Amino acid sequence: MSSTLIRSVGEHVLRGGTITREEASTLMTLTDPADILELGSWAARVRAKYTGTSCQLCALVNAKAGECAENCGYCSQSSHHQTDIAKYPLMDPLAILERAHQAEQFGAKRFCIVTATRGLSDRDLPTIAEAVRRVREQTSLAPECSLGFVTDEQLAALKEAGMTRYNHNLETCESNFPNICTTHTYQDRVNTLKQLKRQGMERCAGGILGLGETPEGRLDLAFALAELGVECVPVNVINPRPGTPLEQAAPPAPLEVIKTVAIFRLILPWAVIELAGGREANVRDLQSLALLCGANGLIIGSYLTTIGRQPAEDLQLVQDLGFTPDPGEARPAAMMPLAK
Ligand code: SF4
Repeated sequence: MSSTLIRSVGEHVLRGGTITREEASTLMTLTDPADILELGSWAARVRAKYTGTSCQLCALVNAKAGECAENCGYCSQSSHHQTDIAKYPLMDPLAILERAHQAEQFGAKRFCIVTATRGLSDRDLPTIAEAVRRVREQTSLAPECSLGFVTDEQLAALKEAGMTRYNHNLETCESNFPNICTTHTYQDRVNTLKQLKRQGMERCAGGILGLGETPEGRLDLAFALAELGVECVPVNVINPRPGTPLEQAAPPAPLEVIKTVAIFRLILPWAVIELAGGREANVRDLQSLALLCGANGLIIGSYLTTIGRQPAEDLQLVQDLGFTPDPGEARPAAMMPLAK
């Protein structure tokens, strides 16, 4: 029964069809590792058809850390929680550029400037735009930003500086969102993703597995991202931080993450599905399986408040699996057209 359903859904999506909610719900109940592997093999075919063998490699810089006014329950950077992370104000453009050079050297192709804020202030905009411009002009990396809520005018300035994509995660499904954050709403985040689309921005939006959502909630998240048509979907797994309300959260098991990634691939066949924070701690030795079973991107280097593994290990993994690093927009700096 499982095999028949897995095959028929896989073939249907491979032919350009869509998976139904009912089918996804049934696949979400799979527990036998052999069934999950079979599902993953179809997700691998779908990934290959839609996105080829390229693997996105993105590095982050936490350009402004801590003291965030929002109260996201998993986040060690919220001023509502007592955590011992390093806090610092907005880095200057040269310091951000230095981090970009390091990312370029260790093999990243995209570089996301992140700040721990509800949204971008007009005071910080010139600094970040300058950082984006320098990354664009002086490295081969494709600059991205994750700065919370933005205005159309701020977006235009960042785009003009060379920003290629904007990250704004939904974090969790709509029904679970009030359990993890009450200082803004799920709808606020959906609205931002729609605004980004209206402004012609490529969007990166995903979530975190293990925030207390049900398996059906994970599907709600994936179908919402599909409806929004986002281009890149980072899949984080909760890495409980001491001092946060979710410090006792139980992360999903590695095979559960792999099954979820495979189903996300069937729901979002066109997207980059990127393994992000928490993968080392929670997926452990099965990270390669997640890439084999539908994922095609990695955040490499350090995360916002935690250390990742050595980028060389990830580059080796990508090579061993037969992927090629997605060049992003990597071109010689001199060839990069910049809007004036
Ligand atoms: S997840 Fe972002 S918005 Fe929420 S508290 Fe952390 S830094 Fe602030």
